[in-house]
Amino acid sequence: MTSENQATTAASSQASTAPRTGQGQAAEFDAIIVGAGFSGLYMLHSLRELGLSVRVLERGGGVGGTWYWNRYPGARCDSESVYYMFSDHMSREILDEWNWSERYAAQPEILRYLEFVTDKMDLRRDIQFNAKVTAAAYDAGRNRWDVGLADGSTLSARFLVTAVGCLSATNTPKFPGVDTFAGDSYHTGAWPHEGADLAGKRVAIIGTGATAVQAVPEIAKQAAHVWVFQRTPNYDIPGRNKPLQADYAAKVKADYPDLWQKARLSGFGLPYEVEERSAVDFSPEERQPIFEAAWAKGGFYMGLETFSDYLVNKDSNDTVSEFIRGKIREMVKDPATGEMLAPKDHPFFTKRPPLENGYYEAFNRDNVTLLDARAVPIEEITPRGVRTAEDEYEVDAIVYATGFDAMTGTLFGMGITGRDGLRLQDKWADGPQTYLGLTTRGFPNLFVITGPQSPSVMSNMPVAIEQNVEWIAGLIQYMRAHDLDVAEPAQEAEDNWVEHHNQVAAATLLPETDSWWMGANIPGKPRTLYPYVGGVGPFRVICQEVAEKGYEGLMLTPG
Ligand code: NAP
Repeated sequence: MTSENQATTAASSQASTAPRTGQGQAAEFDAIIVGAGFSGLYMLHSLRELGLSVRVLERGGGVGGTWYWNRYPGARCDSESVYYMFSDHMSREILDEWNWSERYAAQPEILRYLEFVTDKMDLRRDIQFNAKVTAAAYDAGRNRWDVGLADGSTLSARFLVTAVGCLSATNTPKFPGVDTFAGDSYHTGAWPHEGADLAGKRVAIIGTGATAVQAVPEIAKQAAHVWVFQRTPNYDIPGRNKPLQADYAAKVKADYPDLWQKARLSGFGLPYEVEERSAVDFSPEERQPIFEAAWAKGGFYMGLETFSDYLVNKDSNDTVSEFIRGKIREMVKDPATGEMLAPKDHPFFTKRPPLENGYYEAFNRDNVTLLDARAVPIEEITPRGVRTAEDEYEVDAIVYATGFDAMTGTLFGMGITGRDGLRLQDKWADGPQTYLGLTTRGFPNLFVITGPQSPSVMSNMPVAIEQNVEWIAGLIQYMRAHDLDVAEPAQEAEDNWVEHHNQVAAATLLPETDSWWMGANIPGKPRTLYPYVGGVGPFRVICQEVAEKGYEGLMLTPG
């Protein structure tokens, strides 16, 4: 155990909201929250405010979730830092006090921020670290969730809230020989805390998603040579990261009340100026300056502030896709490499567009080689490196930037069992079935933060998280005020939500593309759009209306 782990374990043993424990019995709480990232921290604060006894179970040795695990070189957020934080709903003081150093904060700074929040809000004392949940079973007789940990201990609670993140179960493809490699293997989502020494090494990087796009330029600066195995090129937008200007940050702080409100009611959780207009209604000469301005600005403005119908109008999408392809070809010196990097098999934004800060330029370096893993797939990992049908690449290290079993991987791994022994993965065998993405029938008093069929990853995460947490806390408050003990969605309400979710998805171009949003990156995973794409603002309104109607669609009963 590291000294950090020892410290956190000791701290966590002094839980403030005293659980009721008898000899030989599991510690009992009003609520158990799984995960101590953005979601778990805010959920803990919100439930403590209601006076509940709460325990957070966190498998890591510290807070941070995504930002605890993803320590690969170049890791930073793709939302602008000033919006990638808790709003005044968590604490006005923290919002005023915290200052970001860059337009897009790097992982160490975001982790420092979450630690700062944890300490400032005195959250640590209710968090149990190194606590991996291996089972969570609902006991209808007691109306309690019994939660088992990897160390054999058990806890129980009336409410179980999962705050496990959308991208927390890493995916390493099952290449033949994957365990035979004699060098060092790393997955970006489980990067060693002590770092990886890649200086002067020959490195294979597999994958070209948002993670690899951040990691490749940084690893290329240290390594002797980097081979990037690309199966699908992406539409990478320039991030144009830079130090955060003090006057800009001050103006944002002054405008926060309006900006948060705008973000909460927006499509994607960001307070951008979205003009309702189609690219096809503009001539190429009119479109060009609009595209150029967004390209120069950098960030998701390209997708959100140019034209508003890319996800529903293929002709409109073709215009922006072609513009980005042209930019890629311009940035990459070798025409053949530029052509390989230009995506042609899917429309813009039907896979998550990465933000790049030096990714395309990295391919102008002599020590970076792009390989086409679609045309010449990886056949096996050997003790020496990566072998394709054409060659064997001898390397000292392999970096798997191969993504995650998103949105359901971690939930299924927790062994969640509802009423009558129903396992969550069996209930969702053909795809998630939820009411508002927050609840699922057969699993009373289980609440899922940023779960499938809620906006989650289709949003700037903190905005989606705050809405989810506040809705769950509001419901629990309502239940307590009305002496209600059990919350479970009615079948009809759940069916209607799933149908609505699917209808919204079907109206977009998203289902046509193989993406992790569609579950297409994991063999055998049901193909369905996992996040809700109806918009953060409209989703908020729907949830608010449900609450105002006494949580319509939920069956609320005394214990
Ligand atoms: P990802 O988008 O799923 O990308 C995984 C990459 O690995 C893809 O290029 C994929 O190719 C490739 N791959 C998977 N299996 C392969 C195989 N058998 N052979 C060759 N290539 C293979 O994962 P990610 O890059 O970790 O990003 C996941 C998500 O995390 C992002 O979309 C984003 O939402 C989030 N993220 C956020 C930030 C941020 O905001 N700071 C940064 C990084 C990531 P295919 O495309 O062909 O499947």
